[in-house]
Amino acid sequence: MTVIAIDGPAGSGKSTLARNLARALGFLFLDTGAMYRALALAAQRAHIAPDEEVRLTELAQQIKVHFVMQGDEQRVMLNDEDVSEAIRTPEISDLASRISVYSGVRRAMVALQRALAAQTHGVVAEGRDTTTVVFPEAAVKIYLDASPQERARRRQHQLQQQGINAPYEQLLQQILERDARDASRPDSPLRIAPDAIVVQNDGWTKEQTFEHVLQLCRERLGLN
Ligand code: C5P
Repeated sequence: MTVIAIDGPAGSGKSTLARNLARALGFLFLDTGAMYRALALAAQRAHIAPDEEVRLTELAQQIKVHFVMQGDEQRVMLNDEDVSEAIRTPEISDLASRISVYSGVRRAMVALQRALAAQTHGVVAEGRDTTTVVFPEAAVKIYLDASPQERARRRQHQLQQQGINAPYEQLLQQILERDARDASRPDSPLRIAPDAIVVQNDGWTKEQTFEHVLQLCRERLGLN
């Protein structure tokens, strides 16, 4: 099984990049953030508060999250329900970031991520700890980064396309808070793996980021 792992902060373009790479290489796109989001949605529906660590850990051990292809598109399934849209609200973003601090939650999610990868011949995994904790042996490791201001603008644009109007200042604030939480949690903080290639993509289009990283992957995997 070949693993390409991509980590980086919220809004750096990891999902788009990973999705496009997976498509180009015929690999599974393992969106680990979507899995934490699905857990957040399940917790919200079960009326479990973000500080209820034990109940959240139990829930993480019980839920089934997986991905299915629908035509050209990959969908996120929570216990066989398609939650692809429901997990993309600002509220779930915030909740996912809060519940992902717990070690028990993370252990359960990492086990699920490895199990999903093991069923494939290749994955493009993206998240906060895929290069450091989930797949330390990944063949290619990328740390994708962009400034908080650029990331807030991208998030605003993304939400607008879903019909959600969110003020820029508020999004910037949320991004800074999530960055701080992701980087400062004791278990699996977001950090740059020593063997990761850092790609800073301020001012780049999605296509430029994709072409740049695809070339890196081809070189590393000997596909040229
Ligand atoms: O990447 P995305 O914004 O979808 O992730 C939602 C939240 O899940 C992040 O803010 C982060 O706190 C958490 N997460 C994580 N570890 C991962 C992926 C996401 O803690 N591997």
